[in-house]
Amino acid sequence: MTTINPFESALKQLEKAAKLVNLDPKINEILRHPEHIVQVAVPVIMDDGALKVFEGYRVQHNSARGPYKGGLRFHPQTDLNEVKALAAWMTWKCAVVGIPYGGGKGGITIDSKKLSPAELERLSRSFARAIAPFIGPTVDVPAPDVYTTPQIMAWIADEYGKVTGKPSPAVITGKPLEAGGSQGRDTATAQGGFYVLSGFMQKMNWQPAQMKVAIQGYGNAGSVMAQLLHAAGYKIVAVSDSKGALLDTTSAGMNPAHLAKTKKEKTFAGGEYWNGSVYVREGYKTITNAELLEADVDILVPAALENQITGDNAERIKAKIVLELANGPTTPEGDEILARRQITVLPDILANAGGVTVSYFEWDQNMKGETWDKAQVFTKLEKIMNDAFAAVYAAKEKYNTDMRTAAYISALERLSQAINKKYGW
Ligand code: NAD
Repeated sequence: MTTINPFESALKQLEKAAKLVNLDPKINEILRHPEHIVQVAVPVIMDDGALKVFEGYRVQHNSARGPYKGGLRFHPQTDLNEVKALAAWMTWKCAVVGIPYGGGKGGITIDSKKLSPAELERLSRSFARAIAPFIGPTVDVPAPDVYTTPQIMAWIADEYGKVTGKPSPAVITGKPLEAGGSQGRDTATAQGGFYVLSGFMQKMNWQPAQMKVAIQGYGNAGSVMAQLLHAAGYKIVAVSDSKGALLDTTSAGMNPAHLAKTKKEKTFAGGEYWNGSVYVREGYKTITNAELLEADVDILVPAALENQITGDNAERIKAKIVLELANGPTTPEGDEILARRQITVLPDILANAGGVTVSYFEWDQNMKGETWDKAQVFTKLEKIMNDAFAAVYAAKEKYNTDMRTAAYISALERLSQAINKKYGW
């Protein structure tokens, strides 16, 4: 299998939409180049007293529509090309939902699961000091992503406040409530995806009870999605995390409340999780992540990492809908095959935009010194997601194209205006 560079995938996706709408070549050229690429050394004193230096990144892709915005990822496979792609996707995503941000993303190449809690805190604070000169509430506002948590956001906000000499909660979002976080941020990504899926289900006149679902990745995005879908009557038949996957062999469907509880118990006990015999006894069979992607389901929800649905396996995907909670789970080759097979991809830059939308609400509350309740947050989120879905669906019909290209077209209209204004073209 060849290595797929996610930034090249992001540019191919842009190219497809650009051709269809005859995009001004100047706009296209601007969007192909991140505005700033910051690479930093992240020194950390480990528990044994030794100093280790990790590699960190912050890519600021485009700021024509507002401050750079996007998460921070701590993952052993994180590299510059991944962060560049994630930053570009943030630019299109914020434009798709019409929130006043540009796109950025950051990360550290590290296996953070191997760190002690004290080392993780020192790493997060060291990274905050390293990127402090480049971020700020009106410049660049990070957030959580894979293997980063509200607690890590709180450490970064605190350290940034120390470096700059004044508390600035609006420098980062996804904070715990007591550190200036927003109601609903923890469930926002999945909630936004749920609104998008519901919009599409209505268009197709399909009912939740008819739909079997497989979810890849059981973190912030995937586990909350499992709960929302289960509560709405969808049947979850397969789930996975980095350790492996489980398939329901009964006809009952999986109960996410039970999965979450067991995951916590097993994690606390420090034992094996997905391969635990509990599941086998209860009618759950262990399968591979590759098998999960090809499971006999109606909806596949990739909620882990990039490059999962590719030219190598797209022919064997059985789902009718791919709901992309992860960023970049489908490669352009995978997309082509899915489109030919009339499988609808509800694309990342629309489907997972609920997270950044509630991050925007958090930032807005911090900037204005306000606190909104959960109902306010979700009413606003639902409207933004429904409007974005309607605009993307309309572009899909108008240009007779797939939903991803339609989402790019919708984003490009807003981006073109902002870029023209910024450069005075
Ligand atoms: P997380 O750290 O909470 O969870 C990641 C999950 O993926 C974990 O369950 C992990 O075990 C699993 N995983 C890792 N490697 C895997 C593999 N090879 N196969 C299967 N599962 C694997 O992260 P998250 O915040 O849920 O992010 C997941 C995806 O959603 C990422 O692509 C992220 O960029 C995207 N996303 C997240 C947010 C957000 O607000 N958290 C917003 C938009 C998009």
